[in-house]
Amino acid sequence: MDLLIAITIYLSILGFIVFIVLMGPSPRFRHGPIGRMHRFLTVTLFEWIGYTFRKVFGNRVSRACDRLYVYLTEETNPVLQIVYLSLLSGSIYSFYITAWHHIPGPYVSKIHVYIVPIVIIFTYSTFIIASLSDPGKITKENELRACRMFEYDLLLFQPKKCRTCLLQKPARSKHCSLCKMCIAKFDHHCAWINNCVGLRNHRYFILFLYATFQICVYGAYLIYCILNGIAKKMNLHTAFVYNARGLRIPISRYQTALFLIHQERLLGALGLFAGLVGLVILIFMLYQLYLVITGTTANESFKWEDLDEIIMAGEFWVYEKESDDSAKKSDDKEAGSSVEKTSGRTTAIYWIQPRDLKQRQNNEDNDKRNNEDNDRKEGDREDNDRKDGGRENNENERNSKSQQIGRQVKRLSEIKNIYDKGLWKNLREVLLPPLLNG
Ligand SMILES: [Zn+2]
Ligand SMILES: [Zn+2]
Repeated sequence: MDLLIAITIYLSILGFIVFIVLMGPSPRFRHGPIGRMHRFLTVTLFEWIGYTFRKVFGNRVSRACDRLYVYLTEETNPVLQIVYLSLLSGSIYSFYITAWHHIPGPYVSKIHVYIVPIVIIFTYSTFIIASLSDPGKITKENELRACRMFEYDLLLFQPKKCRTCLLQKPARSKHCSLCKMCIAKFDHHCAWINNCVGLRNHRYFILFLYATFQICVYGAYLIYCILNGIAKKMNLHTAFVYNARGLRIPISRYQTALFLIHQERLLGALGLFAGLVGLVILIFMLYQLYLVITGTTANESFKWEDLDEIIMAGEFWVYEKESDDSAKKSDDKEAGSSVEKTSGRTTAIYWIQPRDLKQRQNNEDNDKRNNEDNDRKEGDREDNDRKDGGRENNENERNSKSQQIGRQVKRLSEIKNIYDKGLWKNLREVLLPPLLNG
């Protein structure tokens, strides 16, 4: 019982920390206790460690640690790739020395002798492909083609230039401050493959997730079968224990499992580890697939969450008016507005968040003061844009305008995601992405 309790507590704490690290920055959680815990884990804790380091080791060592921290968090680096390869290779080696000689066994057929190497080679291959593939880098040559690929919804994406690359930013793209380039249909930067995930390699990333999930589940399944085989060889089904009254009772399946995990510690630990990692990857993979079939990238999902937060705060207004084509053109030029033409009627959508406008101005002032790192600023600016929902300068004027004749948006579902083209087209767009070059 003790072992099970210890494992449950350990897994719960680990799961909770992963949840805080992943979900803390989300608009849904960042103002609550999860957000505070995220700030503690990612900011305060590091400040404490830095302070303690300076006290104990002096400034020279702490400066070296600062440089290391910057290298780990603000530059592309292979640290997590090495961690991934070490975990994968270490697990395969442990499997080889503890489990391989049990194949074939009472519950494991000989065919697995051939399947195991194929699964291993497949996993390494998808990792290499995902790590080395081009995510969809925007260059001077493909800038125009990339811009024609997706239209600007003028809500999440407005026409503008990247201040670092000095190239036009296509809709759905984002400048990655780690890779130092703009990526078409940017999803996210994955430190595990030390590469961005975007238009051209999203399929390889999902394949890599699937391969890792597959090797974990397959490994856990084989270990389960091998342990069952060991139990059979040891005749554990006939084993018994004496209870408190001295009566002989057959041991339960749970007691058998505990006995085997104790008996075959490395094999048992490997099976639990594979099962746990497989579960975490399954959740992430399902989240990725959900985003794909709903025509959203991870980057856009954060923007939608921001927008949802603004709507919940009652600060998102739709200002609709009928206008002819010339009026539409002038409306089109207004950044921070979205114009849809439906059955001869043009609907102009404006969004207003007075509270965030101040925040944005403060951020811009800070940006002016800090001119050191252009790449960093570009990423930050995009994040600010996300929080702003893309508003521009003439908001106050629009505010009064729309409050007079506008309609308050109550739910996110009232706003259409123009990039969602239906399940099959969304899937096709990821599996067979359009060419950026050539
Ligand atoms: Zn850029
Ligand atoms: Zn990147």
